[in-house]
Parts: sequence; C-alpha cells; structure tokens
Amino acid sequence: MGQNSEVTTKRDPVEPQENLDVLASTQTVIKKALEKLGYPEHVFELLKEPLRFMHVRIPIRMDDGQVKVFTGYRSQHNDAVGPTKGGIRFHPDVTEPEVKALSIWMSLKSGIVDLPYGGGKGGIVCDPRQMSFRELERLSRGYVRAISQIVGPTKDIPAPDVFTNSQIMAWMMDEYSRIKEFDSPGFITGKPLVLGGSRGRETATAKGVTIMIREAAKKRGLDMKNARIAIQGFGNAGSYLAKFLHDAGAKVIGISDAYGALTDDNGLDIDYLLDRRDSFGSVTRLFKETITNQELLELDCDILVPAAVENQITAANAHRIKAGIVVEAANGPTTLEATKILSERDVLLVPDVLASAGGVTVSYFEWVQNNQGYYWTEDEVEKKLNDVMVSAFENVYNTAKVRQLDMRLAAYMVGVRKMAEASRFRGWV
Ligand code: NAD
Repeated sequence: MGQNSEVTTKRDPVEPQENLDVLASTQTVIKKALEKLGYPEHVFELLKEPLRFMHVRIPIRMDDGQVKVFTGYRSQHNDAVGPTKGGIRFHPDVTEPEVKALSIWMSLKSGIVDLPYGGGKGGIVCDPRQMSFRELERLSRGYVRAISQIVGPTKDIPAPDVFTNSQIMAWMMDEYSRIKEFDSPGFITGKPLVLGGSRGRETATAKGVTIMIREAAKKRGLDMKNARIAIQGFGNAGSYLAKFLHDAGAKVIGISDAYGALTDDNGLDIDYLLDRRDSFGSVTRLFKETITNQELLELDCDILVPAAVENQITAANAHRIKAGIVVEAANGPTTLEATKILSERDVLLVPDVLASAGGVTVSYFEWVQNNQGYYWTEDEVEKKLNDVMVSAFENVYNTAKVRQLDMRLAAYMVGVRKMAEASRFRGWV
C-alpha cells in the first residue's frame, strides 16, 4: 500500500528493515500462540491461510457508457466453529494478502468475544470517492452475484468495513434475496434499521473501543475525566469514538483523516467537526492549521487510538509515542517490532483483535435478531455488548498477566484456541 512505501522510504537506512506484510505478521503471532498452547505444527498449517479464497472479476457499466472491470475478493478463513463472518472493504489499495489477513483477524475476534463464527472478509479494488451512487449500486450488486455461491446466512455473512455503509449492505441484501428468491436479512449485517438492521450497530465498534479505553484506564489508575486522547481517523470508528469520549468528559486533543490532522490542547469541538465531516470521514481539508498524521501519533497525550489504516506505529516511531495507553480501533495499525518496543516501554497496548471486536459482536446480535424475527431495544444491545467486551478484556488481560506476555500474544492465544479446538473435535487435525 502507498502507506507502507511512505513509511519505508522515510526510514533511516542503517535501521534493519521491518516486516510490514500484515499476513506474515499475523502468521508469526498465530504460530507463537499455538506453540504456547501446546498444539502440534499441523494445527498451524491448517490455520495459517484461509480454507477458501475467491478472486472475482466484476464488469460494471459506468455512467459514461464504458465498461470497467473491477477485481474483488472473498476470503473464508476457518469455519470449524460456525459460518464465517466479516466485512467488505471498498478501497483502491485492497490486496489479496490484506484480505486474507483481515479474515484471519475476524476468526481471532470471534474467538476472543466468543461468537459462534469463524472469520471471513471481502474487498473490491475501487475508489468509491470517485464513483457515483448508481455506479456503487451496480458494483455492490455485481459483487454479490459473483460470490453468491459461497456466501449465505449459514455459510458466510458479510458486513461493512472501510468505505462501505448501510446503503451498500441494503443493495447487497436485496441482490442476494433476488438470487435466492426469498427474503434473506440474515445474509448480511450493518443494514438500515428498516431492513432488519440492529439498533446500536452503527456505533458498535466505537462503543466497544470506548469500553476498552475505560477498562484500560482503570488498570492504569487514569481518570477518564480530562484524560488527553488523540485519535487517528475520523470515519465510522474514529468519529463516534471521539464523540463518546468527548461526552464522557475526556479531552480529545487530536483527530485526523487521510489528508492531515487537527489538534487543540484544550480539546477539539467534536460536535462541530462531526457536523462538517463528509461521508468518507474527511474534515481536515476545511482547516488551514493542520499537522501531519505522524505528528498526531506522537502528540503528548494519555491515550492514543489509531482508527484508520495499517502500519502506522512502526519501529521508526514507536519510541516517540508518548501515550501510556494505545488502543487499536483499526485493524493492524501497529507492527510486531513496534509492539515489542511499546511493551518494553510499559505502554499498555489493547490489540485490534480485542479492541475493535464490538462491531462483529453487534453484527452477531443483528444476525440473531434476523433469525428470530424479534428485535431488541438499544439498551438491551448496549448492555449485552458491555458484558461481552468487559469479559473479553479481563480474559485477555489476565492471560497476559499470568503468563507474562504482551496483550497481543495473549489475545491471539484466547482467539485461536476455540478454532483449534473446534477443528480438533471435527477430526480435521
Ligand atoms: P472509514 O472508512 O469510515 O474511515 C476511515 C478513516 O481513516 C477516515 O477518516 C479516513 O480519512 C482515514 N484515513 C484513510 N486513510 C488514511 C491514512 N492514510 N492516514 C490517516 N487517516 C486515513 O473506516 P472505519 O470503518 O472507521 O474503519 C477504520 C478502521 O477500523 C479500519 O482499520 C477498519 O478495518 C477498522 N474497523 C472498523 C470497524 C467498523 O465497524 N467500522 C470494525 C472493526 C474494525
């Protein structure tokens, strides 16, 4: 990705090259986790790659009459526990290894919050910011036609991810229902409420991250009132998070988007920024006084939340991070070398596979409600989410403490165990 090459070119030439390949890094930690749990090598052989991976080409007629062919992927990591589940990303930088890694992370998340799922993920190489509403509809429907044989409410259940939203989920659900000739709300989650979406789904990832921040702050004796927080990314995850933290009395002193970052030592006016941001989470271009994303990561703050893209905290900047707590709302924002540096510096790092599991948890609630045809109140959803996230945090925190590990390895151990056990009981390994 462009991000990675930027980080690589800026690096001091005498510094050893760092591995920015998210799939390879994930496999490294899974291997360590399985070894610590005492599983034989062939369990790693099963879990190091997805069981199924589909590569599709989607021809779409654009508004100017030309046909453009898009590349899409769907990855199903492991379905020993149950159907696979995970979002669909629309982004120009989507790659095959990234989608595979994202599907493995979904398996781990489902294990950590104890859902009856394995992990899946999808992506289309496209730039939705350059496409019209109708072009996006045709692409969303075309993708579902291309992958319809391997997905479904009891096989693999998609959801939103970067640059996809409830409207895109609605088109996809409609296309799937037409192909199968019955209404299938349980095919996809993150839908609008009127089509069987769950109350609380839109804000679920941010709510989950807020709970993780609260629990991590308790462990470090930090009072959330007036805690100084910097958030990278102002999209679905980052913007709602900024709002929840601001409303809880914390000071959000920095936020960013793909174009730059805003900072105010006295706390930013989050409601104003929310009002001005566009549907792709961009707001900083409206301001003259900005800093860079790199500067945002290194702000003097108590809590740092990367909520944008991969490989942001690397060996090149980890020693300059000033926050005592880092909570990963994004998938894969910290490299393994940076994880080691932060851990040696006693920074409490709540890893992505735990911190951002609120989204898939409420997606699971949505699927349960669709299957029952009975819908819950927002309070019910919030209470259930809180219980799930607090118990997952305690489980990972205690595993890390008892076994003297960093939180990432501890989370992988908790997450991988259920898949490994289900695969063993099924007689696969
Ligand atoms: P989004 O598309 O709504 O927002 C992404 C934000 O990141 C935008 O503000 C964008 O401007 C910014 N951004 C993009 N490229 C950037 C760059 N190079 N540098 C700095 N900022 C950049 O996406 P989202 O749903 O908020 O997801 C953000 C992260 O959280 C992703 O890693 C995603 O996988 C993860 N996540 C999201 C959910 C969810 O439910 N939305 C669930 C779990 C994990």
